[in-house]
Amino acid sequence: MSSCSSKVIVALDYADAESVLAFVDKLEPSLCKLKVGKELFTREGPPIVLDLIRRGFDVFLDLKFHDIPNTVAKAVAAAADMGVWMTNVHTFGGRRMMEAAREEIDRKGSKIILIGVTVLTSIERRDLRELGIQENIMDQVRILSSAAEISGLDGVVCSAREVPMLRNERKENFILVTPGIRLSNFPSDDQRRVVSPIDAIENGSDFIVIGRPVTQSASPTDTIREIVQSIL
Ligand code: C5P
Repeated sequence: MSSCSSKVIVALDYADAESVLAFVDKLEPSLCKLKVGKELFTREGPPIVLDLIRRGFDVFLDLKFHDIPNTVAKAVAAAADMGVWMTNVHTFGGRRMMEAAREEIDRKGSKIILIGVTVLTSIERRDLRELGIQENIMDQVRILSSAAEISGLDGVVCSAREVPMLRNERKENFILVTPGIRLSNFPSDDQRRVVSPIDAIENGSDFIVIGRPVTQSASPTDTIREIVQSIL
């Protein structure tokens, strides 16, 4: 169940709980949702997730599960038991894996939002080619998001560049979550398919995920407020 209507998800890519909590202490759950990814979760585990939920935040557990169907279904069930608002699997795990995850969540009666990662926003066409995939990015995202929808996932993670295409082709309430968000004065870093907050929302993103432009800002809370204002 969501406790906030914000479309902004801040990626808590910090190395330890102390840094996260010093940051989160300055935030209100109504301002943004929070994303716990691989670095923070591997260091701090479920206690940090439970702490953030206790503070009233919607938490997106971004562990991009990718394994055999049974293992992913049980991992997603564990995320649901933690009480997170959203979690994800990697669509490349295939249809049977995604269906198993969906079935496990439904069996539990959990309301967790389950989405699938398509093509990482750090990937460009030549990266796909090196992996033996000849499709261009747009087509590859189309294929993977279609598989996600058919498998019963609630939505996908993609770049906001692919959102207009997906809004057109996927079912109406398919949730589109877009990282690779950059403010005009901030470097792209390792991201490649970047879009500004307002363009992402105008394209039709349901939620934007933003990490370093916020966490490396001299005044992170002001930066979040500016982003929230800019997309109202
Ligand atoms: O710092 P930055 O804004 O680039 O952070 C983006 C966040 O979104 C990171 O935590 C990254 O793991 C995550 N992410 C992504 N691309 C995806 C899925 C998640 O960048 N396809």
